[in-house]
Amino acid sequence: MKNYEIIDKLYAYHNADRAEFTALINTVTDEELEYLRKKAQQTAQKYYGNKVYIRGLIEISSICKNDCLYCGIRRSNTNAVRYRLSKEQILQCCDTGYPLGFRTFVLQGGEDGYFTDDVMCDIVQKIKQKYPDCAVTLSLGERSYESYKRLFDSGADRYLLRHETADKEHYEKLHPDNMSHQNRLDCLYNLKKIGYQTGAGFMVGSPFQTAENLADDLIFIKNLNPQMCGIGPFIPHKDTPFAKQPTGSVRLCLMLISIIRLLLPSVLLPSTTALGTADINGREKGILHGANVVMPNLSPLEHRKDYSLYDNKICTGDESAQCISCMKNRMKSIGYEVVTDVGNYIAP
Ligand code: SAM
Repeated sequence: MKNYEIIDKLYAYHNADRAEFTALINTVTDEELEYLRKKAQQTAQKYYGNKVYIRGLIEISSICKNDCLYCGIRRSNTNAVRYRLSKEQILQCCDTGYPLGFRTFVLQGGEDGYFTDDVMCDIVQKIKQKYPDCAVTLSLGERSYESYKRLFDSGADRYLLRHETADKEHYEKLHPDNMSHQNRLDCLYNLKKIGYQTGAGFMVGSPFQTAENLADDLIFIKNLNPQMCGIGPFIPHKDTPFAKQPTGSVRLCLMLISIIRLLLPSVLLPSTTALGTADINGREKGILHGANVVMPNLSPLEHRKDYSLYDNKICTGDESAQCISCMKNRMKSIGYEVVTDVGNYIAP
């Protein structure tokens, strides 16, 4: 099948097979990519118009028990500056974000043992009590079914947990022996079962990744059918074993955003900070390729640079108010509008 036919099939039937995905990834021309981009943008606009949802990202801890080989806050990185926000600081971030128009708060952090279920449930309840018109998204890594359930029962609405790669062997090249690919996948199925709006995702251009791995990621996502999907280029961090590896391709990342939009037409699809770091206009390009969410940083200014997952991360020096006004202008420049909206998933 020719690439144009594969794109038409994706647009009409929201699916393709492994060989077709691999062909697109390996051989798409600029003209074909533009055709794909337009179909993806059209599909996003069918559900979300020219609206872009914002999520206030609160990076609650740079302390992590894991040792993922790609990540700047991995346990073994002795150069990393470690911090943990208090409950009051987290609530303060929400207090800053609400008047700026944020109606979703994303609490993300390393796997920090301090944030037990009791501590997290209390934080989630407090945010939901104070801001009942807001959604709380958690992104705190792998936890037990019971833990996810308690957090959900406390009011958490969504959970982001990238699967990182659908291929077990590839996963094992990116993570130390004590991390289990199966557990990561089980967590995602548990989150869906409990009733979270669930987000999976992966890095584009992570070390050892092949076109077939990416095809498998797309198939995994199609089968899981998550409400959210976060992808961004891998960017090396100087104090990790992957320091010398190249940054993932922005072009490929944009193509995958478009493919994911066609696979899951109404999925909540962020144009990520990593994309904006790899390309100065990456976030605008992401939206034009079918993304519909951006996640400006709401973390306290004094800790921003210490949540350093990769080198040269953008938006570490600006006040939250500056970040949101910059984002509004960026989106306006491409004909999109940042909206004050809880921004829930719309079923297709
Ligand atoms: N601990 C939680 C977890 O495991 O999901 C949330 C925090 S984790 C740092 C968030 C995401 O950052 C990961 O899922 C990974 O895909 C991404 N990430 C980490 N290092 C990265 C790098 N060097 N380049 C791009 N993305 C990276």
